Amino acid sequence: MAFEGLASRLQNVFGKLRGKGKLSEEDVNEALREVRLALLEADVNFKVVKEFVAKVKEQAIGQDVMKSFTPGMVVVDIVNKELTALMGGTQSKLAKANKPPTVIMMVGLQGAGKTTTTGKLAKLLQKQNARPLLVACDVYRPAAIKQLQVLGEQIKAPVFSLGDQVSPVEIARKGMQQAKDNHNDYVIIDTAGRLHVDEELMDELKNIREAVKPDEILLVVDAMTGQDAVNVAESFHKQMELTGVVLTKLDGDTRGGAALSVKAVTGCPIKFAAMGEKVDALEPFFPDRMASRILG
Ligand code: GDP
Repeated sequence: MAFEGLASRLQNVFGKLRGKGKLSEEDVNEALREVRLALLEADVNFKVVKEFVAKVKEQAIGQDVMKSFTPGMVVVDIVNKELTALMGGTQSKLAKANKPPTVIMMVGLQGAGKTTTTGKLAKLLQKQNARPLLVACDVYRPAAIKQLQVLGEQIKAPVFSLGDQVSPVEIARKGMQQAKDNHNDYVIIDTAGRLHVDEELMDELKNIREAVKPDEILLVVDAMTGQDAVNVAESFHKQMELTGVVLTKLDGDTRGGAALSVKAVTGCPIKFAAMGEKVDALEPFFPDRMASRILG
C-alpha cells in the first residue's frame, strides 16, 4: 500500500510521544528528528522537509503544548495540521466555465496515465450528470486513440477523433466545435506525451492551449516516480501554467514523496488521485484525508 513505510514510521514516533505524560524539549526534538528522517526516506523534497519540521517545531516547543495534559496528542495534531497544509489545505475543486463547455486539457509524460485518467475523469463528471466529450489529440503513441475510444465505449461517452494524420491543434479545434454543436458541457482533451519533457512537446501543447483556451490544464504524474514527478511538475508548470495535478498509481507502493512535495514545490494543487487501473479509480484529492491516512 502507498505510504506504508512513512505511515508506520510516523505512527511509531507518535505512539511513543503520546505515551509520555510530560514532554521535554528534548523529547520533541528527538521526535522531530525521526519525522525528518521518515519524510526524507519517503522521498519528500529536502527543502520541503526542512521547512515542515521548522514549522512544527515552532509550534510544538511553545509553553502551551508543554503544559497541556496530553502534550503528545497536541504535537500529533500540529503535525496533522501541517501535513494537511503541505498538501494544499482544503480540497481544490475543478474550475467551471461561465459559459459551457468547460475545457480540460490533460498533459503529462508518456506512461503517466494520461489517457486512462481522461476516461476516469469523464466517468467522475458523468456521475455528476455532466456530458463530457473526449478528444483524442495523442496522434503519436500507437494505439492511444483506440485506447480512448475503448474507454469512451466503456463509459458511454462520445470520443472525437480525426485519426493520426491530422494535427493535434486541428483536432482540438474541431473537437471544441463538436462539443458546442452537441451541447457537451465538458471537453476533455487527451494530448500526447513524450518520455521526457522536450521543447517540441511543449510547443505543441502551447498551440493546443492557444486554440482551445482551457479552463483547466491538468498534469498527470505517476506518484511512483517520487521526486521525478515533482521535477516534471515543475517544468510543466513553468511552461504551461498548470491549474492542477493528478497523481496516479497511488494504489502502488509509492513512498509518498510526490504527494507531499508537489504542491509545496510548484504551488500547483493536487486535484485528483488515481488509485487503480479501473475506470472508476479516480477520486478528488482531499489533503486532510490524506494526512489522516498517513498518520493513522
Ligand atoms: P499515458 O501514456 O499517460 O496516456 O498512460 P496510460 O493512460 O496509457 O497509462 C499507462 C499505464 O498505467 C496503463 O497500463 C494504465 O493502466 C496504468 N495506470 C494508469 N493509472 C493508474 C493507477 O492509478 N494505478 C495503476 N495501478 N495503474 C495505472
